[in-house]
Amino acid sequence: MTDHRCCRGCKFRVAADAEVREAPDGLEQEQGAMADFTLDLNEDQLQIQKWVHDFAENVVRPAGHEWDEKEETPWPIIKEAAEIGLYSFDFITQCFLDPTGLMLPIASEEMSWGDAGIALSIFGSTLGLAGIAANGTPEQLMEWGPQCFGTPDKIQLAAFAVSEPDAGSDVSSLRTRAVYDEAKDEWVLNGTKTWITNGGIADIHVVVASVEPELGSRGQASFIVPPNTPGISQGQKFQKMGIRASHTAEVVLDNCRVPGHCLLGGKDKLDEKLARAREGKRSTSQAAMKTFEGSRPTVGAQALGIARAAYEYSLDYAKERKAFGRAIIENQAIAFKLADMKTRIDASRLLVWRASWMASQGKEFTAGEGSMSKLFAGETAVHVTEEAIQIMGGYGYIREHPVERWHRDSKIYTIFEGTSEIQRLIIARAISGVHIK
Ligand SMILES: Cc1cc2nc3c(=O)[nH]c(=O)nc-3n(C[C@H](O)[C@H](O)[C@H](O)COP(=O)(O)OP(=O)(O)OC[C@H]3O[C@@H](n4cnc5c(N)ncnc54)[C@H](O)[C@@H]3O)c2cc1C
Repeated sequence: MTDHRCCRGCKFRVAADAEVREAPDGLEQEQGAMADFTLDLNEDQLQIQKWVHDFAENVVRPAGHEWDEKEETPWPIIKEAAEIGLYSFDFITQCFLDPTGLMLPIASEEMSWGDAGIALSIFGSTLGLAGIAANGTPEQLMEWGPQCFGTPDKIQLAAFAVSEPDAGSDVSSLRTRAVYDEAKDEWVLNGTKTWITNGGIADIHVVVASVEPELGSRGQASFIVPPNTPGISQGQKFQKMGIRASHTAEVVLDNCRVPGHCLLGGKDKLDEKLARAREGKRSTSQAAMKTFEGSRPTVGAQALGIARAAYEYSLDYAKERKAFGRAIIENQAIAFKLADMKTRIDASRLLVWRASWMASQGKEFTAGEGSMSKLFAGETAVHVTEEAIQIMGGYGYIREHPVERWHRDSKIYTIFEGTSEIQRLIIARAISGVHIK
């Protein structure tokens, strides 16, 4: 290898025998600017990656099977994460402030590589926080953000509650109502939310409710339900196929009253938004959508972590396992599977990193780039974990090995935070400008 010679400061290197052409006039400046492009992680990111990976390898991965079997929130592991600062408002803030936007996806990939159910128990509160960050004022973020995590001595959780029994993909038809009681400056919430991560056990619930149902999603707003508020309770806790260490339950709101300042963004902003919607003007903020747009690449990163775990595990296995007197990896049928798995994993990471970087730069997702990252990474996780089982044969199918669990865990990534079909809808509408149904 030799240094690339045609542009200033370029970090790229080209093969010694590659033809090095003179840059045409006027191109040098542009290529000089291009030299700033790098996919190398910086020192801070490498340190965080290693720190989270060590925790995932030493604490999370060994506990994955146990908490999957128990189907309970792994409180001792959340506490351990809190004690080292990994489960904390400060750490998530540090991730949000990373100017490249890559810190949170990097941490999410590593944690889910350890175990996706436990990772969701640890990072589930981040979705509640994202709901506050997307729709709240800076003051609201500073007041409620730290309470989404608590302290190592008093762990707190957050939940983001949008979905309802009759409104999952179709968030415009939420039935949960928020009615303003002007005399008391309180909002009264009524309705049932379903499939809520940390639902009912969270200290802070961020609830999306309809203020003016006839306006659809433009008539909705987000509310904080503070700890110990009367009128909010857990309904049914669901038994699931995968990510079983993560708590998923109904949340029942029965005349649940929250102070006026719990309306995210404030009353003036909401009144303005409703007035615009009544006039039929385009709204710039839809409570649930704004949160999901920002969080999709991170959810894609979680799927990526599962896929990478399954790929690495089955690669090692394929080198060890002998059949017909040779390692099974010596068969193209097996080796090509692994080649495809790795290619899809790397492509997923590039999509996740691109969308995360775009979000951090305030670039609009003009082609549904956030959805692309979640769609591709989610489907890759399902595909790769299934291929890993196939590579391992009978051993892949039994619980002595983790790949069957990883396959069960992976499936949720084509469902929550918008199903694969909804991601395709978003991308198709963005690229065509046509309101595809
Ligand atoms: C484990 C788990 C955790 C969850 N955590 C949360 C949470 O923390 N907070 C929260 O608010 N929600 C959460 N959810 C809910 C999740 O986001 C919804 O399940 C998801 O959005 C899909 O909604 P649905 O289940 O009602 O499916 P539906 O909307 O009924 O969809 C059913 C099928 O129809 C397809 N479909 C629907 N509409 C269209 C269309 N227009 N075009 C093409 N296909 C379509 C869907 O893609 C899907 O295949 C969670 C769900 C699960 C299972």
